[in-house]
Amino acid sequence: MKYDVIVIGGGPGGYVAAIRASQRGLSTALIEKEAIGGVCLNWGCIPTKTLLKSAKVYTQTLHASTFGVILDKQSVQPDLATMIRRKNGVVRKLTSGVTHLLEKNGVTVILGTATALSPTTIQVGDTMLEATYFIVATGASVFLPPIDGLPEAMQQGMAVTAKEMLDVQTIPQHIVIVGGGVIGFEFATVYNALGAQVTVVEMLPDVLTGVDHDVKDAFLTNIQKDGVTVLVNTAVTTIKDGVTLKTGDDSRHVSCDRVLIATGMRPNVKELTAFGLAMKSSGIDTNAYMQTSVPHIYAVGDVTGEFMLAHVASKEGLVAVDHITNKAHPMDYTKIPSGVYTFPEMGMIGLTESQARERHTDIQTFSFPLSANGKALGEQERVGFVKLITTKDHVVIGVHILSPIATELITQSSLGMYFNMTAEDLVQAIHPHPTLSEMIHEAAHGIVEFPIHI
Ligand code: FAD
Repeated sequence: MKYDVIVIGGGPGGYVAAIRASQRGLSTALIEKEAIGGVCLNWGCIPTKTLLKSAKVYTQTLHASTFGVILDKQSVQPDLATMIRRKNGVVRKLTSGVTHLLEKNGVTVILGTATALSPTTIQVGDTMLEATYFIVATGASVFLPPIDGLPEAMQQGMAVTAKEMLDVQTIPQHIVIVGGGVIGFEFATVYNALGAQVTVVEMLPDVLTGVDHDVKDAFLTNIQKDGVTVLVNTAVTTIKDGVTLKTGDDSRHVSCDRVLIATGMRPNVKELTAFGLAMKSSGIDTNAYMQTSVPHIYAVGDVTGEFMLAHVASKEGLVAVDHITNKAHPMDYTKIPSGVYTFPEMGMIGLTESQARERHTDIQTFSFPLSANGKALGEQERVGFVKLITTKDHVVIGVHILSPIATELITQSSLGMYFNMTAEDLVQAIHPHPTLSEMIHEAAHGIVEFPIHI
């Protein structure tokens, strides 16, 4: 059987590419070995945010009296089993929606593992399939660090990755999270809110690499004040009856009843070697049109290891199909918004202050605090700010937000930066009141002249 396009992998990179290819009139098959929706819908973005919402409702309920709602605190309990059932329901609804969309758009969905036999043929089960174009969207899998006792602890279910953690129905007494990246801190937020003791352990001197230092510092101060322990320059060397932690020459044993491994992802390329694709250190190498070293084979999403984000994977899928159908738009990695779903959230786009200082001789920054925003006051929110970074000509080159709904607020900057907005543009644009978005407006006033409300 021969198709115009075969997409390998049904995550946000693959399924979006398959739908668009079929919409453009190409006969398209999508091969998926585990679950339509990939990591993002089944074990990543959506389930974690669904649990985070439950954790938020629990936290807000505990503080209900502040808002004049009287509850018997003793009777407010987190029910993790119900939270997980709700999460499973959301995942089911979303993944069956995507399956329906693929069918409705005429994509042939084949469940099974695709193994490359040559640059033009793959095998799925007993079937050989050929295509004019392939789009590799096989994603990435958790990297398991070489820790003594980890395989045994994983077998016993005491050590888990994010995928298994999302189905654990009891709240741990003490969870040690190995890895101080975004995923580690999102889980730290959930389990800290649900009442577990949480320790985040990072081997490197710093956590949350890529987050602007002001946002990171304020976030870390807040989460540590909330009770999370964050250890840097510290390695987990053994997992047995808890964990052994090594900081410099000091080793100590810490008891815990759960270990979450959140040490990063590695691209899934095992079954694809016969494609003969050139690799870079992080994954499959592509040009700006997502074309690999074999011109009729494209690679999108986490398998390229570039920006491991769902919206980047989807955009790359569209860029690949655009190129195949002669509507070329290259990928632009300079204006990618991203979010960290913690309490409070972080939203960011463009350069951090230190990156901006490296690349531009003269920059301007202005931070406007959440504590001076009326909407935030009414909502009893205190921690956060918006930080704007511009060139000396006031072109916005970075926006960094620590605030409730920061992951929503950042979208405005995404659109603005797409059009190369200046701080003057932001000042002239009327922002609705009362909203948290007024912080962005005020920060722009701060760059151009003076803010009004501080
Ligand atoms: P995937 O979603 O990994 O999909 C790849 C698919 O390919 C899988 O379904 C796999 O089964 C299939 N596959 C692999 N090999 C084969 C083969 N040989 N044959 C057939 N099928 C194959 N990103 C965000 O943007 N926002 C978030 O909030 C966010 N939260 C996250 C939380 C967690 C806990 C995790 C782990 C990740 C999170 N991410 C988030 C990252 C996001 O999930 C990924 O960036 C995204 O899923 C990448 O999409 P993809 O299509 O490249 O790969």
